[in-house]
Amino acid sequence: MTNISLDSVGNFNHRPRAQLGHLPTPLEAMPNLGKALSEAELFIKRDDCTGLAMGGNKVRQCEFYLGEAIAQGADTVLITGAVQSNFTRTVAAAARKLGFECHIQAEKRVSHTSSLYYHSGNVLLSRILGASISSYHEGEDEDGADKQLEVIAAELRADGKKPYVIHLGPDHPQIGSLGYIVAADEIIKQANELEMQFDKIVVATGSGATHAGLLFGLRALGNQTPVTGICVRREKALQVPRIAKHCDNIATVLDIENPVSLTDIIINDDALAPGYGQINDAVLEAIELIAQNEGIILDPVYTGRSMAGFISLAKQAISGEKLLFIHTGGQPSIFGYEDDLKPILSKNID
Ligand SMILES: *Cc1c(COP(=O)(O)O)cnc(C)c1O
Repeated sequence: MTNISLDSVGNFNHRPRAQLGHLPTPLEAMPNLGKALSEAELFIKRDDCTGLAMGGNKVRQCEFYLGEAIAQGADTVLITGAVQSNFTRTVAAAARKLGFECHIQAEKRVSHTSSLYYHSGNVLLSRILGASISSYHEGEDEDGADKQLEVIAAELRADGKKPYVIHLGPDHPQIGSLGYIVAADEIIKQANELEMQFDKIVVATGSGATHAGLLFGLRALGNQTPVTGICVRREKALQVPRIAKHCDNIATVLDIENPVSLTDIIINDDALAPGYGQINDAVLEAIELIAQNEGIILDPVYTGRSMAGFISLAKQAISGEKLLFIHTGGQPSIFGYEDDLKPILSKNID
């Protein structure tokens, strides 16, 4: 068993990092789901339990973004995302904890008629956290959204503030990915403690920061477990080069060779239709199945979809195979999507 430490992953330990998460997160068995589905043994990494303001994968990413913001002497953090973005809510919380102001740009990526979508869930939490919020109406337009955020940053600078902008476009290095190198290290150690090896790890792939960081981290730490990214935002043909680019960027940031080859990038977009943030039957089934077998809550945008992908892989797995699902969080958005969910659950709720 290889035991490469994080110290030897380039300049990883010299990157600025703010401690924000409750880490390591638990890694648990899902015996009931396993029995219900397949001959395989199913496990879950509880990154919904990262702690800060209802947790999720963005807490790990924020440790490195906010660390950088502190290193640059910033006083205000700016972030853009979908209206029900977990990232913007988590940045708002991280900013408060570390003494920053926070501005959120909410993009209308999904057209919605429900007022809950615009006011409840993550939006409500961001308001409680005291973030200022502006809206951006162009839907799927990463470059445009990043540019508009720069306009707001320029206004803040003119007012004497020191803004730090978290860009989401793939041309900017996703330093949040470094948080998933930490997760990779935890998974390797937890598997060692359990005296086992996973045959497959399954994770949602959206911006790709989580997927790229996890894959890069495993390979850099000498672990070859296959990682399947389940598309939640764009199709496979677009997601593969995106992950490859993120991995190149991480290698540059850490000043090491990129240990991820193109064949390492496994992407599955079978559960993506009809598109980002839009529920389908497989997503609903996944949400109900895991809640009713394991008492675990998933969200309708990300983990419901990645679990739908995990379920179909678990059904195809052979006896004794060990599959790990990364629960990336997102539960607050359930309340923003309540109107979409209720009428279509198998037992309708009033
Ligand atoms: C953002 C998010 C993802 C996707 O993570 P990326 O790093 O953007 O690929 C998955 N699950 C949840 C709950 C998220 O909020």
